[in-house]
Amino acid sequence: MSESAVTAEHVEGFQPDHCANCFEQLPGDPNHRPHLFCSELCRDTAALVRYWRSAVRDGRFETDPEVRYAVQIQIAHLLAGGYHGQARTIPAETRTLVKERDKVCVSCGGPGEEIDHIDGDSNDPENLQLLCKDCHHGKTAESLVPASTEQMDFVQVLFLERVAPDEPARLCDGQDWRQAESRLRAERRRRLVGPPKRSRRNSLDPSTITWLT
Ligand SMILES: [Zn+2]
Ligand SMILES: [Zn+2]
Repeated sequence: MSESAVTAEHVEGFQPDHCANCFEQLPGDPNHRPHLFCSELCRDTAALVRYWRSAVRDGRFETDPEVRYAVQIQIAHLLAGGYHGQARTIPAETRTLVKERDKVCVSCGGPGEEIDHIDGDSNDPENLQLLCKDCHHGKTAESLVPASTEQMDFVQVLFLERVAPDEPARLCDGQDWRQAESRLRAERRRRLVGPPKRSRRNSLDPSTITWLT
């Protein structure tokens, strides 16, 4: 991640054609993904900030261990270079295979509730095991210990600059980002490729709108 993702140089808002999270200039390609972010890492960082902010404000971060755990997991994935969501999605057949093979939590013999990647992202059944919720959370929590001072600083700065302040430090940190995002995406697209084609509207057959009368 670039340094600018967590410094206070840009304290608020949004700059057109710049990453909503780190303010790096975006490529001029209208098909660039993920759209208003320079990278998936930046998109995931903003998603974490929004989730964390809402969990702190509605009290769940204090009262609900599941929510605090979810925040920890997202942080761990960011520190590991981004969440490989696509790669880690286990196909249904493989899930069934692992459940039928292991039957119960392979660690404690409790109910087999969650499928765990033993090491890395591979969905090879040899790399998967059935665990109960507690064992799975325990295992993940162990792997969450930040590896370096820089990483601990990153998390602390992220919290102090973007989660703790009452006002969102960036537009993408606020809870109304989803709405703003689709509007800004459409606006950027118009600017890069021109207005949307209207041929569809022109070809409408007036006889199809009799319900108007
Ligand atoms: Zn960025
Ligand atoms: Zn267990």
